[in-house]
Amino acid sequence: MDFIKNNLAKINTTLPEHVTLVAVSKTKPVSDIQEAYDAGHRVFGENKIQEMVSKYDELPKDIQWHMIGHLQRNKVKYMAHFVDLIHGVDSFKTLVEIDKQAKKHNRVIRCLLQARIAKEETKFGLPFNEIEEILASEELAQLENVKVVGFMGMATFTHDKEVLQEEFSSLKTFFDQQKNTNTELTILSMGMSGDYQLAIENGSTMIRVGSSIFGARNYII
Ligand SMILES: *Cc1c(COP(=O)(O)O)cnc(C)c1O
Repeated sequence: MDFIKNNLAKINTTLPEHVTLVAVSKTKPVSDIQEAYDAGHRVFGENKIQEMVSKYDELPKDIQWHMIGHLQRNKVKYMAHFVDLIHGVDSFKTLVEIDKQAKKHNRVIRCLLQARIAKEETKFGLPFNEIEEILASEELAQLENVKVVGFMGMATFTHDKEVLQEEFSSLKTFFDQQKNTNTELTILSMGMSGDYQLAIENGSTMIRVGSSIFGARNYII
């Protein structure tokens, strides 16, 4: 009883005011999300578009839905009418598609560019220089229905604090540099259940926490 509500309260009491908690509800039933909602929480993250759409349809409409997973471009259209923030954008092509779909609904969709910070081999995320290129490009300025508002990073899957610290702080440094010339950059999404305290110490403004709120997931996706 009150498992989710208590977990949320515990985390919230430790969070600085400038940090937004995204409750990652992937694989969890709508009843779990409703419990968090009833406790006052409004920001939820999912990593599969179809799953997010069906939950959106069933749940209160003042929920802010964040897409945190890897994006399949051909599915962007299914969430374009409601998604609040897309964390995992890792190509200019994807921004073009989000812009196109957002336009159909007369919306501006906020996006984060996913940076590659993990030392481990990963195909996700952009190197810093490619992020810089996208931000500076004429083409981006022409996309009226997307707004790049910050970056997202996933650290190496490790308990080694030094590795995590180095990866988080490298993104924070890059974020601060880019902010100097781009005032629209306000969000730095870093940190999950296992590493969010460290991420906050290293400048995160948005954490994505799943298992510490809803409990362990039954399967890995
Ligand atoms: C699942 C997921 C999370 C949350 O993971 P937990 O370890 O359960 O907190 C955060 N970010 C992304 C991108 C995820 O896919």
